[in-house]
Amino acid sequence: MPELTLAEKLEILADGAKYDVSCASSGSSRRNRDGIGNAAQCGICHSWTADGRCVSLLKILLTNACIYDCAYCVNRRSNDTRRVILTPPEVAELTIGFYRRNAIEGLFLSTGVVKTPDHTMELLIEATRLLREEHRFNGYIHVKVVPGADLLLVERLGRLADRVSINMELPTREGLQLLAPDKSREAIVAPMRRVGELIVQTKEERKVSRKIPPFAPAGQSTQLIVGAAGESDLQIVTLAAGLYGRLAMKRVYYSAFIPVNRDERLPAVVGTPPLVREHRLYQADWLMRYYGFAAGELLNEERPNLDLSLDPKAGWALRNLHLFPVEVNRADYETLLRVPGIGVRSAQRIVRARRGGHLSLDDLPKLGVVMKRARYFVTARGRFAADLAPDAAGLRARLLEKTPARPRWNQPSLFEGGAAGIDLRSAITGEL
Ligand code: SF4
Repeated sequence: MPELTLAEKLEILADGAKYDVSCASSGSSRRNRDGIGNAAQCGICHSWTADGRCVSLLKILLTNACIYDCAYCVNRRSNDTRRVILTPPEVAELTIGFYRRNAIEGLFLSTGVVKTPDHTMELLIEATRLLREEHRFNGYIHVKVVPGADLLLVERLGRLADRVSINMELPTREGLQLLAPDKSREAIVAPMRRVGELIVQTKEERKVSRKIPPFAPAGQSTQLIVGAAGESDLQIVTLAAGLYGRLAMKRVYYSAFIPVNRDERLPAVVGTPPLVREHRLYQADWLMRYYGFAAGELLNEERPNLDLSLDPKAGWALRNLHLFPVEVNRADYETLLRVPGIGVRSAQRIVRARRGGHLSLDDLPKLGVVMKRARYFVTARGRFAADLAPDAAGLRARLLEKTPARPRWNQPSLFEGGAAGIDLRSAITGEL
């Protein structure tokens, strides 16, 4: 078989990386000193595809070869695919080449497992080291950690990269055993825990001395596949809450299960992949990270799955109608955040604006409140905007009338966007 050119390898490896959605960058800020590139605050991914994937990182695999055979993975050992591997200098050369052509702002480097986890990690570390030390590349770098790798290698990688991520993929232990039997939960959690410890420890040490090198300053992230192993939303949301709370996780990404292999262990996907469910999980995740909701407020054993037709904040409000209406001139910030139609920015604006005098209902839209939702849940100067206060069933019917169209199914694409029927920012973040 003829030797592949670098461009041909790139095509194969970029295609193999497209199912990994955990590539959004955020939170890394580092000025360029004597190299090239800057890692900007709030991340370098300012462009998003319509299906919510970022496009300004070079997103590739080091190799699509893998010694493992995860049922859901396009790169698994048993698939009859052409396998290629980049050398660390080739990864560095490609990244610098794209950066100089202004096509990318950073690198997202994932990989299959070649030979052993440690060997693969050595290659990732060398590629990252070459970029940082030889090419003086100061741009954003996000690298995958290989489950089961030596924790000292994990530490070396975290000293070079802005963000590291270890994909958990399957939310339950049973799911992992069934679909990815070569990987153990412990092999995934141990590096996550070590990364979490080093992030916290390094932040503390750098408060004392800035000479201590940073460790994964943009934090760690992970990805969960949604709908591959029969897990409930309660299991997913509880797991995510634990990852945020205990392992210093910056982001959990949710990826609707897309069948790419024929395998009797996998569920049949009738119609489109569970993209609406993925979107609802992003919304629940957003509520936990920014709105002060606990996982148990959103789901429980009696109600283990999110309502696909209604966003989880509206669902919570309908179950707690005794807490409404909220008077916008008196409610504290945390209470305002729980009102459907009021987001972080509009809650902040309300708190600021009411210092200058009592707000009226007419003021609320100017402050960013979405009145078509909030009208049923707020009063201003004691006045209620809705013509009547319906019961939960009536209110639900009214809110459903306002629900935007379902997102259309789009294959994740590195370079192309497609139209989706939902707000793009909301699609990827779940912001409500
Ligand atoms: S270890 Fe990763 S690359 Fe290898 S088969 Fe599993 S999911 Fe795919």
